[in-house]
Amino acid sequence: MVGPDGALPLPWLEAPLRQALATQRAHALLIHGPQGVGQFELALTLAQAWLCESATAARPCGVCASCRLVQARSHPDLLVLLPEALREPLGWNAGDDDTAGDDKAGKRKPSKDIRVDEIRQAIAFAQTTSARGRGKTVVIHPAERMNGVSANALLKTLEEPPGDARLLLSCAAPDALLPTIRSRCQAVPLALPDVAIASRWLADRSVDAPEVLLAAAGGQPQDALQWAKEGMNADQWTALPRQLARGEVGSLAAWPLPRVVDMLQKLCHDAMRLAAGGAPRYFPAAAMPPAAALEPLSAWARELARSARHAEHPWNVGLMVESLTEQARQALAAPAVRRVPFDTLGG
Ligand SMILES: [Zn+2]
Repeated sequence: MVGPDGALPLPWLEAPLRQALATQRAHALLIHGPQGVGQFELALTLAQAWLCESATAARPCGVCASCRLVQARSHPDLLVLLPEALREPLGWNAGDDDTAGDDKAGKRKPSKDIRVDEIRQAIAFAQTTSARGRGKTVVIHPAERMNGVSANALLKTLEEPPGDARLLLSCAAPDALLPTIRSRCQAVPLALPDVAIASRWLADRSVDAPEVLLAAAGGQPQDALQWAKEGMNADQWTALPRQLARGEVGSLAAWPLPRVVDMLQKLCHDAMRLAAGGAPRYFPAAAMPPAAALEPLSAWARELARSARHAEHPWNVGLMVESLTEQARQALAAPAVRRVPFDTLGG
């Protein structure tokens, strides 16, 4: 959302925001793009623009009463629907719609899903009269966290929103949504931001060598920032390929297993690109060991895909990381020899 200084939360959202405000026709929008590029922030900013009470708003003014209520997370016409597990990290822990006493006792893990009762509450909210006269707005993030029942409960409202209600769905995996949900929303695509803008944004947040971590995160600046906060740095990342080629577990041991598998998949991807004569994408070219043979790398990629499916429930993380490291060493060590024509072998 736009702050009192009029600045956007993420500088690369400027063009997509202008574009979305100029082209939106539907009462339900689906903002989609790769994870970590700011779908949620764009959804909130669009909601703020719709609710903004400044007469000239081609974007939210940031200072009117309505904009300030959005900033304070207490606008009576805005409902932000997040899975429980995301409310705290996204700073949206209003608690006023969280009336179930058990939820606060901390007895169970916060849900990662958007539940059907929450969708029903959002629908009821959309049906009430607008308090400030600019309609009701519901933001649902991430929309792919709705299960089939939740999504079905929302369909009718998406098709015919009550009164002047509008819905904003944000999503990093549109394929995971029901086609019937997708078809009822106007799509607002959000692309990876420009590398220079994203690197500057990361540098402003004290990330050293930001372009290295940006590449490590596949160009997704919010993910890169999250990694930096969790302790990843450019030196560690750059050292990883050669460490693994030597069979050293090294800094891998410090990360949770799903992250380890993700790192290895990126290394495998880059090693395969190198083997095929291309340039690496996630690691600096100078950090890569010499090109390896394609076939063992492909086998490694398949093994990693299998590990990724089980990474959430490892039986023994230490042993698993060791065996993954050994797998990496073998795949990276197989020399990429050119086949020698049979008749030059002599004998
Ligand atoms: Zn305003």
